[in-house]
Amino acid sequence: MKKDRKAVVTKAAFTGALVLSLTVGTAYAEKNLNTVYQVYVDDEPIGTVENKEDIQSFIEDRVHRAEITYSEEDLNLNEDITFTPEKNLSSESKKAKVLERLGESISVSAESVQVNIDDQTVAHLSADEEIEEVKQRLKEKYVEEETLTQLESQDSKGKPIEMEERASGILSVELSHEIKGESSEVHPSQISSVSQVVREVKKGTVVENSQGGNKPVEGEVSEPLTEVVVQEKDVEEQTIESSRKIVKTNDLLKGETETKQEGSDGRKEIHTLITKKNGSVEARETLKEEVVEEPVEEVILKGTKIIPSRGTGTFAWPAVEGTITSHVGERWGRYHKGIDIAGVDDRTIKAADNGEVVTAEYQSGFGNKVVIDHNNGYETIYAHLDSIDVEVGETVRKGNKLGVMGTTGNSTGIHLHFEIHKDGKLEDPDSFF
Ligand SMILES: [Zn+2]
Repeated sequence: MKKDRKAVVTKAAFTGALVLSLTVGTAYAEKNLNTVYQVYVDDEPIGTVENKEDIQSFIEDRVHRAEITYSEEDLNLNEDITFTPEKNLSSESKKAKVLERLGESISVSAESVQVNIDDQTVAHLSADEEIEEVKQRLKEKYVEEETLTQLESQDSKGKPIEMEERASGILSVELSHEIKGESSEVHPSQISSVSQVVREVKKGTVVENSQGGNKPVEGEVSEPLTEVVVQEKDVEEQTIESSRKIVKTNDLLKGETETKQEGSDGRKEIHTLITKKNGSVEARETLKEEVVEEPVEEVILKGTKIIPSRGTGTFAWPAVEGTITSHVGERWGRYHKGIDIAGVDDRTIKAADNGEVVTAEYQSGFGNKVVIDHNNGYETIYAHLDSIDVEVGETVRKGNKLGVMGTTGNSTGIHLHFEIHKDGKLEDPDSFF
């Protein structure tokens, strides 16, 4: 008899079309006997009814009520309801009893999408699109909607995301653990809303405590089921400081400097890849450093040339002790152009500063005379020397012996006549000692 059973309600969607499918083989019905129908829930017989429509409408009513209760459309019946016709003389169908049993043994389910993270089912949603909505909502917490749309359109074109070479910005937004959907059927009460799933994913797994409960243990932090991983590119400009180079040269005198090349700072760009997880920085990686403008080295020339015949600008006393016996000024109707130094035990005459001997000879009036050009604008004159120890063209250092004090020329006793000239103009030696 089983062969003749026909499924009238299956796990397929329970719709109006079901009514039309309620055709049952009645080939064996004999006209003189009543035909009743044995009702099977899956393979379990639960009793007979005279009208299959009674079963039909009972089930329909149950399903519709469930649809209203759970605000779900198109709920399915989980059990197969089938009939077999039987000939019955006594017609003992107990409809109420059969419907009661039927009510106890049937259940409904909704087509749903299992939300899987790391092969673990975390919730059920109504439709595939809702999985996308969950992902989007998680991402929007950290990235502007506009940016996500932009990134997605670049993705769908199959083109690699090309940021402008010198632009900062978001390169990619991913989830640390992929959220996948899988079709399933569950009781409608098990279906969550998108908001609920987003909340659960953020809150994360609850650590089981010792009591086996699933309340979060105080002090323990649960980890989100998945996190939003954002990769950002950051381009920062930095200054490359100019360096200074000192070049020694004999073309310049010692102490002199000259800028051969002006220096200027350069610029470089540092491209960094920043990885953020749920908004906090996880990693920074320098992608490249690019010199935009090379720095220019400053080159300073520093003189090394030493001229020994060049004066220092300060003068040493040109004798060994002694005193000034005559100053610059009017004397005996003439102008005395220098100072006279006398009263020494050691008659050595010394160069008052470094320089070059330009005169070393006897001249009337001056007697034996030495003139030193200090090569800095100054000239000094030493006169009435008893003897001269230097020659024209000779370089002398400050303190070198020039000769011996005497009284040659127009002189009234042993003394040194000493003059200082600056750029051809007479100076008063008194102001130097
Ligand atoms: Zn004099």
